[in-house]
Amino acid sequence: MKKILIILINFFIVLNALEIKPKNVENANTAILILEEKNIKNPKLTFDKQNIDFFSFPNKKNKYYALVPVSYYKDKKDYRIIISYLRDKKKIFKGVTLSVIDGNYKSEIINVSKGKVTLSKKNKARVDKEYKEAMNIYNSVSPNLYLNGKFIYPIDSKITSNFGTKRVYNGSLKSYHSGTDFKAKIGTKIKAVNDGIVVLSKHRFYAGNSIVIDHGQGIYSCYYHLSKLKFKKGQKVKKGDIIGLSGDTGRVTGPHLHFAFRIHGIQVDPLQLITLVNKNNIY
Ligand SMILES: [Zn+2]
Repeated sequence: MKKILIILINFFIVLNALEIKPKNVENANTAILILEEKNIKNPKLTFDKQNIDFFSFPNKKNKYYALVPVSYYKDKKDYRIIISYLRDKKKIFKGVTLSVIDGNYKSEIINVSKGKVTLSKKNKARVDKEYKEAMNIYNSVSPNLYLNGKFIYPIDSKITSNFGTKRVYNGSLKSYHSGTDFKAKIGTKIKAVNDGIVVLSKHRFYAGNSIVIDHGQGIYSCYYHLSKLKFKKGQKVKKGDIIGLSGDTGRVTGPHLHFAFRIHGIQVDPLQLITLVNKNNIY
């Protein structure tokens, strides 16, 4: 009886050594891989040519996690994620399937005259420079995790525009809504959703006054169109700190907070990410 029980327990442990949640992930959402293995080194994975490191679970031994962000434009199909790590100097490989399914985002049809879409040469150069600067930030991975407990929302307010809405300009898909918009009249206090380091605090062409917080291990939160910035680049920030006041700066039709997340450089649904991280206790 005892032997059967041990076999059963071992079987259970083997089955649970590698978990992926959710197995079917919508485009522009994030999946989490949880790996439990003893005496391993250097766990990493490859998802459709993107290499992502596993990180140790905070306060847990032999448990690792990796966030796998799925780009908005990813083909809807099954992907084989390859996991590798070292044990006794031997490289071990494992595979797991992630199905990317359609998020069925709504469409917004916008008809504008051509002059309004085209940027002046000067503005185009500014936008390009700001994009490069931001991507350099998002693609760097700080080894430490700064998260202090569960994520909170940046504001307690109504959502006025969901993440992911397709923007069809003059008949062609040009972009999608890259964040979640919250109703916020000018001057509303905006909170840091978790601990981190402010890595961007400046005025930008599209986003207006912007704050970006590095939460470590490839996790970044972004707050746009602010009227006032209360933190400078390089400053540490605590969860709940007022990082700025909402506003209508940048390219907007009215005051609101545009709240976004980047995971390993990829834009993802911020609220789905918050739910996923909070549920799996990565802190
Ligand atoms: Zn927005």
